Amino acid sequence: MLQRLRSNFRLSIITLLGLCAVLGITPFAIYRFWQGNVLAGVADLLILLAICAVVIYAWVTDDTRRSGLVMAVVACSGAVVVALLLGVVGLFWMFPPIVTSFFLTSPRLAMLVNAVAMAILMNFYAQFQSLEMVLSFVATALVVSTCAYLFAVQHETQRKRLANLATLDPLTGVRNRRSMEMELQAAVQAHQRNGIPFGLALLDLDYFKRINDDFGHAVGDEVLVNCVDVLVRNIRQADQLFRFGGEEFVLLLPGVDGPGMQKAVAHLQRAIRSELRSPGGPVTASFGLATLRDDDTADSWMERADQALYQAKEQGRDRVVDASVTLASALPA
Ligand code: GH3
Ligand code: MG
Ligand code: MG
Repeated sequence: MLQRLRSNFRLSIITLLGLCAVLGITPFAIYRFWQGNVLAGVADLLILLAICAVVIYAWVTDDTRRSGLVMAVVACSGAVVVALLLGVVGLFWMFPPIVTSFFLTSPRLAMLVNAVAMAILMNFYAQFQSLEMVLSFVATALVVSTCAYLFAVQHETQRKRLANLATLDPLTGVRNRRSMEMELQAAVQAHQRNGIPFGLALLDLDYFKRINDDFGHAVGDEVLVNCVDVLVRNIRQADQLFRFGGEEFVLLLPGVDGPGMQKAVAHLQRAIRSELRSPGGPVTASFGLATLRDDDTADSWMERADQALYQAKEQGRDRVVDASVTLASALPA
């Protein structure tokens, strides 16, 4: 539970707000009933129930994008109802949802939710002391919203930049080994849950060290970038490419069985042969394939693909070996 809260910022915010809402609104709900303001008390109770439902939904489904937006809408509309019922005193309750909506959903949606809430309040200005009072409130709320919006946009940009730094290979721009490990785990889980087939292809450029030795590291880098370009142009949109390290790449093929993967990889092998060049001539690659088995872990799956790649190298390079058929049989193109 703590692990989920730590790894999912939005889930932790939804939970924290849920907790604050229960602790903060419950005493007021009791107070309203005690005062005889049944309508406001019922409104408080309904807001509480809706917020609890959203928290439970977020925990059960892990869909924090949708539940975050629903939470922002519930909190804002709840505060609008309270403001309309209580008048000027109720307006103060608008500020917490106005700010927290930026924690719960995207900056644009948060701004939209807030703007709609302001528009409703302005429409019912007769509920408050004077139009000037409502306009003063809307003006201050807009300042708060704009500041929160700018802060949220900056935070989102930095979060994306950090995520890219942590998951993308700086040279080729494809995802790195760390994100590959996460995707392999996710694939194993999807296979165990829904029986979705997955193929894994490990690709290693042949005699790459010679390119570095003969023409320099910069030329080697260029070949790596061009290799990714060839691969990206020749895979399906659903396939996922990762740089495993050095001149090794991993291709994850969802929804593909053994023969399907062999066909896809044979196509890649031909594309590399005909399109990838170094100053010394054509560059080739060796491939190790493995389809995901029911009893596989990410490590055992990867290990079989690696053994297959080893065999492809042993058997002379520029070839494909599928571990799932038999590790002894090579598939020369
Ligand atoms: P094989 O056919 O057996 O795969 O031989 P190879 O020469 O390709 O394999 P080896 O593993 O001996 O060489 C890989 C080389 O890749 C060694 C390393 O210097 C080079 N390398 C690793 N990362 C990079 C990189 O980011 N840029 C460049 N230019 N070279 C790299
Ligand atoms: Mg190599
Ligand atoms: Mg290598």
